[in-house]
Parts: sequence; C-alpha cells; structure tokens
Amino acid sequence: MLGAGDKIVSLRIVLLGGPGAGKGTQAVRISAALDVPHISTGDIFRGHLSENTELGRQIKPFMEQGSLVPDELTCEVVATRLGEADCAQGYVLDGFPRSVPQAEMLAEMLANRGEQIDMVVDLAVPDDEIVERLSARRTCPKCGTIYNLKFKPPSGDPTKCDRPNCGGTLVQRADDQEETIRHRLEVYHRVTEPLCRFYREKGTLRTIDGAGQTPDTVFEKIEEQLDAEGVR
Ligand code: AMP
Repeated sequence: MLGAGDKIVSLRIVLLGGPGAGKGTQAVRISAALDVPHISTGDIFRGHLSENTELGRQIKPFMEQGSLVPDELTCEVVATRLGEADCAQGYVLDGFPRSVPQAEMLAEMLANRGEQIDMVVDLAVPDDEIVERLSARRTCPKCGTIYNLKFKPPSGDPTKCDRPNCGGTLVQRADDQEETIRHRLEVYHRVTEPLCRFYREKGTLRTIDGAGQTPDTVFEKIEEQLDAEGVR
C-alpha cells in the first residue's frame, strides 16, 4: 500500500477517462498518497469563472455548453501551472490533456526540460453508467468535496457537506444536466478517446476497469499498477 511517507523521485501521472469516470476522486487519492499536487484544468477554469477573470469570460461559453476550451488557452494555463515550484516532484493531471494536440504540446513542453509523462491511467466506464453517476453528482462549493446522492451521499442532511467545520450547501454543476452530459460524452469519444491510442503507442497507458466499481476498489487497482511500476 502506498503511504504519504513513501518518497519517490518524481512521478508525472495523467488520468484519462470520460466525464464522471472518477478522475477527480482518484486524483485526490493519488495526490495524497504520493504527496504530489493534483492539477485539474476543470477546477482551474471553474476558479476563473467564479472570479470572473478575463480568462473566465473567454472560457464561459465553452464550459456552459460542455465543449472543450480552445487548446491554446488550455495549454497556456497548464504551462503556467506546471512551471510552479510544487510541480518539481511530479503531479497528477486530471482532465488534461483532452485532445491529441494538447498531448503533443505537453510532450514537447516536457521534452524541452528532459521530462516525460510516466504513467497514464485510463478509467474505463460505460456511457450509461456515466450519465447515471453525473446526474447524481453534487459538489461542495466551500471545500470541493465530491458527493454522489446514490453512491456516496453525505452522512446527514443530503443537501449539506458533512466534512467537519464545513457544512456547505451542495450544488449540482451546471454542466451535469443530462443534455450537457450527453454532449460532453460525444466530445469525449470524438476528441479525447484517441489519446488512449496516443499513449498506448508510447507504452504508458494502463487501463483500469471502473464499471460498477466503488472508488475504493478503483484506487486499489491504481495502487497495484503503481506498485507494479516500482514507482516508490
Ligand atoms: P472537468 O471538470 O474536467 O469535467 O472539466 C469541465 C469543463 O472544463 C470541460 O467540459 C471543458 O469545458 C473544460 N476543460 C477542462 N479541461 C479541459 C481541457 N484539457 N481542454 C479543454 N477544455 C477543458
């Protein structure tokens, strides 16, 4: 089992998978276990939206429709974030790259520094299960905890975050409405899924069957992969 004290030299992980496949949930766990930052482009973008920055205004229409933010804007945000000091020992990328051009840009940026993506974890979940999961997903806007009203509801009041000292009122993401979910899935299959081939050819792809699995079971499988790679 991985523990926060297990030190590795550096590890750059990409989490692939459709919307609602569990990337965010697993990224939080991997980040804690390996003590590397969790970098979610979706979270970064949502931060810009809520702060109404210039970038936030540019990306708003794409996010609301469940379409991809243009590659140039996305890659610029990622390049800035990966240049920060806490990324020196590696990171878990959640939601990036999401297109082959983004993956090529990432590979080139890393190669310029003598670095590479070490492991790509693809969480495979069927579309119907994704729609079922996302329709029931709720998040706490105060602390970011992700709930699922069917599979992982808060322990007390179903409308409130149950974390100590939080109690935030849970919200449904605007892009978790069924019509938008279907569009995000279509975009995923057309634009993001080709990345599996991209990383398979590089020999870094590890596919994990996430169908009907609990987050605990999926994390155990990820740990097995990390152990098998001898990354700690
Ligand atoms: P997520 O939280 O990863 O589901 O992302 C939410 C939304 O942010 C997506 O539907 C896109 O509109 C946008 N987004 C996040 N990551 C990317 C990316 N790598 N490329 C383009 N758009 C992105």
